[in-house]
Amino acid sequence: MHLRGSTVLALHAHPDDEAIFTGITLRRLADAGARVVLVMATSGDLGSSRVPLRPGESVARRRITELERSAGLLGVQRLVLLGRRDSGLPGRPGTGHPGALAGSDLVELGRRVAELAHAESADTLIFDDDGGVYGHPDHVSTHRVGALAAELTGAARYQITVDRGLAPGHLVRQAAAAAAGGFGRPAEEISLAVTGDPVHLARKHAAITAHASQVDPARLPAAEFAATYASEWFRHLGPAGALHRLAGPRPAQYRPAGRSERLAVHLGAQLVVGEAPVSGDPTGLAERLLVAPGHVGQLAAVQPQ
Ligand SMILES: [Zn+2]
Repeated sequence: MHLRGSTVLALHAHPDDEAIFTGITLRRLADAGARVVLVMATSGDLGSSRVPLRPGESVARRRITELERSAGLLGVQRLVLLGRRDSGLPGRPGTGHPGALAGSDLVELGRRVAELAHAESADTLIFDDDGGVYGHPDHVSTHRVGALAAELTGAARYQITVDRGLAPGHLVRQAAAAAAGGFGRPAEEISLAVTGDPVHLARKHAAITAHASQVDPARLPAAEFAATYASEWFRHLGPAGALHRLAGPRPAQYRPAGRSERLAVHLGAQLVVGEAPVSGDPTGLAERLLVAPGHVGQLAAVQPQ
């Protein structure tokens, strides 16, 4: 329980993003004793439902119900809904609604999230990277909201991304194709990979499939799930926060395909390659890069001995 006393605020765009992109991370933070606050910007109003809705039930209502179940599985202690509408992809029906997140006053939302983070004494914020992970307008918007909140609070910040070398079956590939854009980052631009053991993976699988209105379980075959979803990737800025203190397990699955170069890990002004401990680390925490023979870098955040 080495993260007792730490509070992490994770900001996401749509119900299911929390499970797909940060399911292992949130579960591991909670298991380590951190208080996890999940802030959801929209209800995912524009997603259609792949299952029948109850009489009078809206897609948004169903998705919030699914989110509540997912949040419970991931150890979230407080779920906050910002109540904005799904912006949809440009040119699709439903875009341009006055309540859409992408058309909202993002500065005001950033202040709201900062106030929440302050009230919660959050030391760590998690939100999308500046490309919106795969370019969806709501994800780009949550980046801006999160970045402003982090600026206002001074909390450690971790920007959610994905490794472009990720497995073919990952749901973000399908989402990026729908958005007609790219996704993620090359491995050398990723600071941190958080990985899970089979127990964490089972929770992540359950959390993703809790979003039954959106995700067909047949798209998450058990035989491929670990290889596809065992890693979650972040870009890190500012002081080291709670994710740096998630020690182990060794991320054996993090082997970006087709790359021969080592990952370079930036920790503040330090550039760390190989297994040398970080010298002069102002945070008191050390990162090291684990390189197994014959393949690519495996990255772990470890605590000093
Ligand atoms: Zn999303």
